[in-house]
Amino acid sequence: MDVNGIVTDDVFVAGDISRFPHPVYGYQFVTLEHWVNAVAQAEVAAHNMLCDQSERWPHLWLPVFWSSQFGLNIKSVGVPTFADQVVITQGSAEERRFVAAYGYQGRITAAVAFDQSMWLPFYQRLIEQAAPFPPELATADGPVELRPVAAEVPDRVAATQDATVVVTGHDPGERRATLVRRQS
Ligand SMILES: Cc1cc2nc3c(=O)[nH]c(=O)nc-3n(C[C@H](O)[C@H](O)[C@H](O)COP(=O)(O)OP(=O)(O)OC[C@H]3O[C@@H](n4cnc5c(N)ncnc54)[C@H](O)[C@@H]3O)c2cc1C
Repeated sequence: MDVNGIVTDDVFVAGDISRFPHPVYGYQFVTLEHWVNAVAQAEVAAHNMLCDQSERWPHLWLPVFWSSQFGLNIKSVGVPTFADQVVITQGSAEERRFVAAYGYQGRITAAVAFDQSMWLPFYQRLIEQAAPFPPELATADGPVELRPVAAEVPDRVAATQDATVVVTGHDPGERRATLVRRQS
């Protein structure tokens, strides 16, 4: 996409190199440097290269990440940085086995599991349905009462973090957006 917001047709990207506006996350541009995302985007890109333009698929998969660190299986679905609150919904940090759910303005936006990955598809459905946060769960290993705390994620870096968009031209065919470096 160029600075005017026009998508360049017939250019396909997938994997670490791509950056795209995700509808579930306020169309915020995301770059996802994880294997599962690279594979999912490659499937969509390959399909879109081969099909008619009218049959192209959008890339609407939620970001998924997994890793094994120090003997722990860590899995995440959604965008945990797109959150103003976080709450442990199952297990506990003391047990080193838990699920933490992230929420933004009253809806669930992400979940991270430590040695509890079998639950992630369930949370994925909640995120896709924009279910309320804190989530209403009735699991045997959940705390008696959910106590969300501030997520304290750093400020998001906007696409125009260090620049201002200046619009020039009068006629619709002449109007252009230009990025101008912001004076510090
Ligand atoms: C140390 C490390 C640990 C990671 N651990 C995890 C993990 O635990 N979980 C997880 O989900 N993800 C992990 N990742 C991220 C994951 O590896 C990447 O997200 C994934 O490999 C991205 O796939 P890709 O196809 O987009 O890019 P790549 O796998 O980087 O593939 C790009 C390919 O293009 C080739 N290439 C580059 N330039 C050119 C050129 N000019 N011409 C031809 N070929 C070119 C490169 O050689 C490479 O083979 C890890 C990455 C690193 C580096």
